[in-house]
Amino acid sequence: MEGTNQAPRPRVVAVDTTDPDSRAIAEAARCILGGGLVAFATETVYGLGALASDADAVARIYRAKGRPAHNPLIAHVADAAAARALAAHWSEGAEALARAFWPGPLTLVVERAPGAVVHGHAGLSTVAVRVPAAPIALALLRAVGAPVVAPSANPSGRLSPTRAEHVVRGLGERVDLVLDGGPCAVGIESSVVDLSGRTPRLLRHGTLDVAALRAVAPELEASGRAPLPGEARGSPGLDPSHYAPRAVLEVLPRAQIAARIRDFPGPHGRIVRESIAGTTGHERVLGDRPEVWAQRLYDELHSLDALGVERVWVETPPADPAWWGVADRLRRAAAPRP
Ligand code: AMP
Ligand code: MG
Repeated sequence: MEGTNQAPRPRVVAVDTTDPDSRAIAEAARCILGGGLVAFATETVYGLGALASDADAVARIYRAKGRPAHNPLIAHVADAAAARALAAHWSEGAEALARAFWPGPLTLVVERAPGAVVHGHAGLSTVAVRVPAAPIALALLRAVGAPVVAPSANPSGRLSPTRAEHVVRGLGERVDLVLDGGPCAVGIESSVVDLSGRTPRLLRHGTLDVAALRAVAPELEASGRAPLPGEARGSPGLDPSHYAPRAVLEVLPRAQIAARIRDFPGPHGRIVRESIAGTTGHERVLGDRPEVWAQRLYDELHSLDALGVERVWVETPPADPAWWGVADRLRRAAAPRP
């Protein structure tokens, strides 16, 4: 009904994480099939979903996020068979990785099938596909029955959302519906493996252990720093500055954080493995486990931003490969902004 009493947008529907309500899922699927944008909880971060075959809806994602056209989207599907259907060739390597890690926080880049109608590929000949593990995401994909492209549900370049509130704060009425499944379990974006070249290559670090990936894909090329755009076979859209909070962020060893705290007069916060006792500022202690850091990193940065701090200092993560996903996000969050 037209009028002054329209419901506030976006509509936010709380959904049980382990046993999602089928009516809420059906409403979200109808919205997507009708060309709408639905933000939904996945195990990595909240995604902003649109029907992959709907060019207008996919264009709306780019507008809603202010996302550059050169940055492609990941197509989310309910199972490996649906992923295979989008691929020109589904190699033994793709099958092995899919079997080992799907559903889960792994995205595979493969040559796109000539007939596949998936928008958001940024003019590339490839498509990125993922089968997410979160029951809400899987239920939604099954109900839609077609690929859903879904980048993180945040304004381009800013912090990714790991709670429904982050989506509402960042994108507001540019989203039609939010499926609120509480905080995301993994907390940073998926690992992206490119299978379109001669050897598999890790384009974006996530929480999957490089050794575990190599156990399935022995030739996998991976280093502590994922390639930047322009570097050989770099992932488009992995801009040096990304995932940035409002506050200026610096990654520093503990001793230097203590010195910054003494010298900086404005409101500030820090995220550290162990407490730096007896000093001022907002402190978040995340301990020694990389998976806990991944799960809480964006949430802590969102909350420090909401407190209005001007500086955030984050303790330099250990060099161990288990930390590469967190280290990658921190490096980009701290990079000079355009
Ligand atoms: P987001 O969904 O915002 O986490 O970003 C998706 C990311 O996946 C992009 O920024 C790329 O880094 C990567 N990606 C998506 N599609 C492709 C592709 N066809 N080739 C290489 N990387 C891709
Ligand atoms: Mg993103």
